[in-house]
Amino acid sequence: MADIEDFGNIEVIFQDEEDKTAPRCPHGPTVLFEIKCKGEKNGRRFYACSACRDRKECNFFQWENEKVSEARLLAREQQNLSKMPPFSHAQYCARFREYASLPLDQRRFCVDCQILLLPGEWSGHSSHHMLSDITVSQLRRPSLLLCPLENKKSNAQYLFADRSCHFLLNVLSGLGFRKVLCVGTPRFHELIKMQSIDNKSDPIKSLLLDIDFRYSQFYGQDEFCHYNMFNHHFFNGEEAAKAFLDFLTEDGSKVVMVADPPFGGLVKLLGHTFSKISETWRKLQGAESSVSEMPMVWIFPYFFEPRILNCFPSFTMLDYQVDYDNHPLYKHGKSGRKQSPVRLFTNLCPKDIVLPKEEGYRFCSICERYVSAENKHCSICNACTSKNGKEWKHCPECGKCVKPCKYANFASLLQITVRYGFGVQYLNFNQLHWILTLYWFYLCFVLIDFAPVSVPQPGSTVPCVVTVHSQIISVGRRAVTAVETKGTSAEPVPAKARKSECISVHTGEITVDRCTRVATNKKTAYTAVSVTTVNSDRY
Ligand code: SAH
Ligand code: ZN
Ligand code: ZN
Repeated sequence: MADIEDFGNIEVIFQDEEDKTAPRCPHGPTVLFEIKCKGEKNGRRFYACSACRDRKECNFFQWENEKVSEARLLAREQQNLSKMPPFSHAQYCARFREYASLPLDQRRFCVDCQILLLPGEWSGHSSHHMLSDITVSQLRRPSLLLCPLENKKSNAQYLFADRSCHFLLNVLSGLGFRKVLCVGTPRFHELIKMQSIDNKSDPIKSLLLDIDFRYSQFYGQDEFCHYNMFNHHFFNGEEAAKAFLDFLTEDGSKVVMVADPPFGGLVKLLGHTFSKISETWRKLQGAESSVSEMPMVWIFPYFFEPRILNCFPSFTMLDYQVDYDNHPLYKHGKSGRKQSPVRLFTNLCPKDIVLPKEEGYRFCSICERYVSAENKHCSICNACTSKNGKEWKHCPECGKCVKPCKYANFASLLQITVRYGFGVQYLNFNQLHWILTLYWFYLCFVLIDFAPVSVPQPGSTVPCVVTVHSQIISVGRRAVTAVETKGTSAEPVPAKARKSECISVHTGEITVDRCTRVATNKKTAYTAVSVTTVNSDRY
């Protein structure tokens, strides 16, 4: 998941008066970035779109100190206007009222234009794919009617599977929340709305904030705001911002924010926005409240944990796996081909969030939270350390628990084998070969001090245990090391890097590119391998 944050030398700059000075693109105020080249002290700053990382979608770019001509400013304004929805939210609401009063056979939806059509508009869409007889229950489930936006880079809409949606609602209503601020969670909003129809006595209210303005067709101004979560921008100005404030103040009941941002989004920008929301909420609480942070649930892949905790140190990542309906990989729940990497990050008390036993969760009384049943409590780390819900193993060398590896115990065997260059071709890990492998293991031990140091053949593929130390990949445990970058000569992994930055240990395959012998401490000379491909099951 490379994003701009990963480039290391591009950073987001937050300014106090950002909203006033930043130029605007069709997605609201742009964000100030700083790009630093190696060796430079001061980077160059530029403005770019907050929401789109793909230039094809929004190509806004301006150096911080750039003089922009009147003509260009005008053209920019025109462009921004032209990207506005065809109707205002108030107009959409009026259309909806009219639409709902039509007899069933006059209610059509244009699939091509993704719009509810009034009878007078049919002729303009005659060559389009239209659905007719749109029922009231269809109107209540816009997330089924609208096709999910499938733009990988910025606005991929991955809609919750019913199971995850219901789980979340049950948990939050069980905790006494009667208002949910849905940020980028249209399907969750929809479920809350539907439940409030069934449960009139104690309904939960919901306000959806989403950049997908198609939802304005279905919801009133107190139910939906056209909103950009990367810059906390309300497209309909004061009016929409007021709806947001009213929602937070209204009737004094407990409110929680649930956000499911696109996974490509910049964590820093999201964190900034959610802090602003929380801050607004805190100010509205008045002096009597001692709680300083708004209750929040941020739904995001587990490998963003460090960055999210960096924004919100009060958050905990829960083991609950969030499943999606229309995601090509993550839709089959815990038994699926690939399991969803998406988790809940929250400042709610973890022990209050009961994860269902029948879906494979248990309570850890030491950690005081529900964890995946396979997530074993490590007595050394004193925590249930697994991030992906599978059992993790404590690595004494790294001083922390790492991703599982079926063959972890054989790491030294493989290292020795790679080191001495024999037996490599037998190591293809199917059961029959284990016997042979174990035999080699034994031999290696016997021969260890006598065997000549030979090297793997260049071009051969070596199955191995790969330890990933951020940038550096080391093969085996100690002796053989490799550098991931193509073409660079092999370098031993510095002991420090090995200790501090180990991310995971797992099985994999390397293609031996070049082998050299390097001098070692004391007795044995060892082999360094430079590799071109590492084919492993890391995330
Ligand atoms: N799982 C959620 C949907 C998550 S998909 C559910 O089922 O309800 C991400 C959502 O964020 C989409 O609805 C998308 O329209 C919205 N989104 C994407 N970029 C956004 C932005 N810049 N500001 C606000 N919402 C955005
Ligand atoms: Zn534990
Ligand atoms: Zn451990």
